[in-house]
Amino acid sequence: MIPHAPLIAGNWKMHGLAASLNEALAVAHGAKGVHARVAICPPSLLIHRMVEALAGSGIEVGGQDAHYDDTGAFTGDISAEMLADAGAKLVILGHSERREAYRERDELVARKVQAALRHGLEPIICVGESLEQRRAGRALAVVTGQVRGSLPSELSGSRFAVAYEPVWAIGTGLTPTVAEIEEMHRAIRATLNEMFGATGEAPPILYGGSVKPANAAEILHAAEVGGALVGGASLKAEDFLAIIRAA
Ligand code: PEP
Repeated sequence: MIPHAPLIAGNWKMHGLAASLNEALAVAHGAKGVHARVAICPPSLLIHRMVEALAGSGIEVGGQDAHYDDTGAFTGDISAEMLADAGAKLVILGHSERREAYRERDELVARKVQAALRHGLEPIICVGESLEQRRAGRALAVVTGQVRGSLPSELSGSRFAVAYEPVWAIGTGLTPTVAEIEEMHRAIRATLNEMFGATGEAPPILYGGSVKPANAAEILHAAEVGGALVGGASLKAEDFLAIIRAA
């Protein structure tokens, strides 16, 4: 059973200019009174403006990544402290695009999670197998291994979410079957219970990967699905709202 309102988080990735704030405002307008908890994770440069634009709307704003250190000689990087300072409440960590393009490993993701916790950010920690790993029958082992490696013990009792995002489903239009999603979410829940005891029941396990208005209700009502991390379909208020309303 999922005790809290489902979390629907939009990952804008590297999309969005100042004019896109209107899209976020349209989401805020359309999401009044919905059952779900809603967050938007825009590019870092929009965070502060989005926080101001959405003030009082109940929509939360998050980052898409954070460095593991608070300050230092890390050209181009942004720390969790900076995200919190800009008004972010959450941060996506360990997204497969970062694991792939920047060779982020579980240990690094775990350090980023520790940084997020130091600054009061709620981490959404992403895990997911490649198509090759699924075809080789290794999906469950890979994903539960990522959960063990990317979630530090400091998370115990803190607010966080895990996002199961099969790499082959991101931006492709492909999705696992509901039975496959439920199998994986149950395995993740069992791993959280092993790692954190009774408190492992609390964190929502989001599904991510080609969630769209047409499949949102089916996915969001599957067992152990506590929300969704939405990429492409979060860029248009109309589509994102349809997903939010399906929760
Ligand atoms: C994502 O990148 O987190 C994601 C789920 O993307 P999409 O919804 O576009 O597949």
